[in-house]
Amino acid sequence: MSVSSSTPRYKRVCLKISGEALMGSKEFGIDLDTVERIAEEVKQARDLGMEICIVVGGGNIFRGLQMAAKGMERASADYMGMLATVMNALGLQNALESIGVETRVMSAIEMTAVCEPYIRRRALHHMSKGLVVIFAAGSGNPFFTTDTAAALRAAEMGCDALMKGTQVDGVYSADPKKDPNAERFDHLTYMDVFKQDLKVMDQAAIAITRENGIPIVVFSLADGGIHGALTGSGRFTVISDN
Ligand code: UDP
Repeated sequence: MSVSSSTPRYKRVCLKISGEALMGSKEFGIDLDTVERIAEEVKQARDLGMEICIVVGGGNIFRGLQMAAKGMERASADYMGMLATVMNALGLQNALESIGVETRVMSAIEMTAVCEPYIRRRALHHMSKGLVVIFAAGSGNPFFTTDTAAALRAAEMGCDALMKGTQVDGVYSADPKKDPNAERFDHLTYMDVFKQDLKVMDQAAIAITRENGIPIVVFSLADGGIHGALTGSGRFTVISDN
């Protein structure tokens, strides 16, 4: 879907940024140039009057499931994964604040020396004041993903959309990097995603957004992608019931 406009399509959004998106072209960790670019695009959208919260992943540092597959106890590995998201959240906070965007990091696992604990009503207050709230430590529970945490926070914050940044400019029937015949969709229903088993977000995340009528906007995190999706001027797939 491509809409030519620089006005925001939604007033309040939850932006899901995976840990991998922060790596840039690196194999691991955080690429500062990439984080700065992402921060700049978030700032542009914030300057248009949007209320933005961000759920950040941790896959660039640690993935619980991968370590569990190597023999580590799953719950402990997942807690390590959640701690990785806190590092990313602090990196993103630093990049945003260095360009004048006031932020709060709120962690689902209490860590009061480095950030605020997640308190829903306080987060809502920050958002209504125009602060960018970065949610760290996922849902605070093992056996979940940050995609599910993003759906949860989007519902709790009363967001108008859940914006899911990926490597490509929307949802395809197959991986377009591997299959040149992959079909790209402008719009899908939640049921399409379930029935066709499309790899967009995990099923728990889809279920939460569907139950709460929150559209998912899938877009590319490449240069300009965040701004394009937030304002509607870029290319993206919308998943909703209508
Ligand atoms: N995680 C978790 N519970 C949550 C969110 C995340 O246990 O609510 C753990 C899980 O181990 C996951 C890791 O944190 O592998 C990093 O999150 P995720 O893989 O979702 O990050 P992303 O793929 O977005 O970078």
